[in-house]
Amino acid sequence: YDILKSGGLIISEYSPNVEPNSKMFLERNRIVSGISIGILVIEAMDRSGTSVTARLATQQGRKVFVLPHEIEDIHGKGTNKLIRKGATLITSTQEIIEEFEFLSFKEINDNFGQEYGDFVLRKTADCISGCLSEGQKVYKLVADEFLILDVASDEAKDADKLYDKVREAIDRFIETNEFKVMYTVSGGIVPFAALKGNQCSEALKLTDFALNEAKKLGRNRCYIFNGETYRKFLRKREIIQELREAVINGFQGFTAFYQPVFAEDKKVPYGAEALMRFTSEKFGMISPAEFIPILEETGLIIPAGRWMMKEAMGKCSEIRKILSGFRMSINISQVQASKSDVIQDISAEMKRTGLPLEAVIVELTESDLLEQNINEKHFLTELKRMGISLALDDFGTGYSNFHYLSELKPEIIKIDRSFTAKAVADEQEYYLQNQFCTMIHNLDMKICIEGIESAQEWLKIRKLCPEFTQGYFWGKPCGYEEFVRKFVQEK
Ligand code: C2E
Ligand code: MG
Ligand code: MG
Repeated sequence: YDILKSGGLIISEYSPNVEPNSKMFLERNRIVSGISIGILVIEAMDRSGTSVTARLATQQGRKVFVLPHEIEDIHGKGTNKLIRKGATLITSTQEIIEEFEFLSFKEINDNFGQEYGDFVLRKTADCISGCLSEGQKVYKLVADEFLILDVASDEAKDADKLYDKVREAIDRFIETNEFKVMYTVSGGIVPFAALKGNQCSEALKLTDFALNEAKKLGRNRCYIFNGETYRKFLRKREIIQELREAVINGFQGFTAFYQPVFAEDKKVPYGAEALMRFTSEKFGMISPAEFIPILEETGLIIPAGRWMMKEAMGKCSEIRKILSGFRMSINISQVQASKSDVIQDISAEMKRTGLPLEAVIVELTESDLLEQNINEKHFLTELKRMGISLALDDFGTGYSNFHYLSELKPEIIKIDRSFTAKAVADEQEYYLQNQFCTMIHNLDMKICIEGIESAQEWLKIRKLCPEFTQGYFWGKPCGYEEFVRKFVQEK
């Protein structure tokens, strides 16, 4: 403990319940041996890569053990001046395949026995050790993960080269082992400069992240830590947490905004599009472009979308007391359409609010539609059977295909604002949008052009004869009260 307090990077912490096999293995990988029950061992290493723990412990004629509850203290105080800069950490993991299929390491144990699993791990450790030079040491982390500490270089490209070397060594082992087991190696590289302080726990967090990013890249890939990507990862993690809490706590933080949609006459709004908003405690208002994909990824879009639908349909029936023909457009995500019973949700809400069928328009994006999910097809046929209108959202964002248009016959095609922006700025794009509009009209469908921001743009767009328009020029999305004040009461 004294030694660690006076310096030495904490590079490995081990749980005391080490299996005999692993213990042997740990020793092979130069982890301080002599692990005893109820004790956590920590090893410290100086700039040259020598184990301070081992050296000083030997000098003092005793082994260094630290009780688990003191770990936090050590992390706080025991930072090391010796290894402040100039080292690179690599973690690597094996994904093991047999007969060209991916197997997790657990499966190797299951298929060949734990002893054989240990053999493969030891061989892997040998492959790694064989690639190392002075100032580089390898440690075994959990399961099939290893950590290489490199105090000789702070260049990520050196670590990258080392990764290639390790991968080649492992490939050679697989070959000499006659392909009995086959596995790939992922590597995550973290330059020491990326670490705040030099605590083991912090280093392991970053190497873990780098390793996961490498795995996302595919088999046999290496990823070099990037601070910006890590910050985004942390932000996303916090947003996920906040969204989850919001959903549990009665959707606190979620609000419904409404943007007017105008028909040709433009005196009263024809309807509105309901747009979800989320205010994070930490980050303030977050754009739907950021949080909607997160809601979809986590499945939270199902409860949040249901909440949104209730909210929007409730408000629609309020507005219809003044504007009787008012229609509400509700965005439905592919995740909701394929993984929940949205049709049931819609009809339950219709019953509750007493809204007629024509009061609701379901918006589905083109890309979602092209997912070709069977359930979603069921969703579309059900929607048609019930007689609820469909609007195809984001039209013109790269997926446009006229085949499914004639098959599906959505009531409305919503031309995306990115397309509109291009069309107002560029003659050829304008010509293209004009042709699209003609075709859509020939197919007997209506057009809603989104993203009209100025009178000048409107002058150009109106020549395309869209049935509906939506854009900042007519009104930005806003909260319900403001919407009523601006677009319902004044009219
Ligand atoms: P979207 O359905 O295409 O909605 C139109 C988006 O364009 C809205 O962005 C709106 O604020 C924006 N917009 C409208 N007019 C203009 C304009 O003149 N200029 C500019 N620059 N933008 C304009 P928002 O609210 O940020 O929503 C983005 C996307 O998030 C939506 O695109 C939709 O795909 C998704 N989204 C929003 N609310 C929900 C929801 O409740 N459920 C689902 N599944 N998706 C939603
Ligand atoms: Mg929409
Ligand atoms: Mg749209």
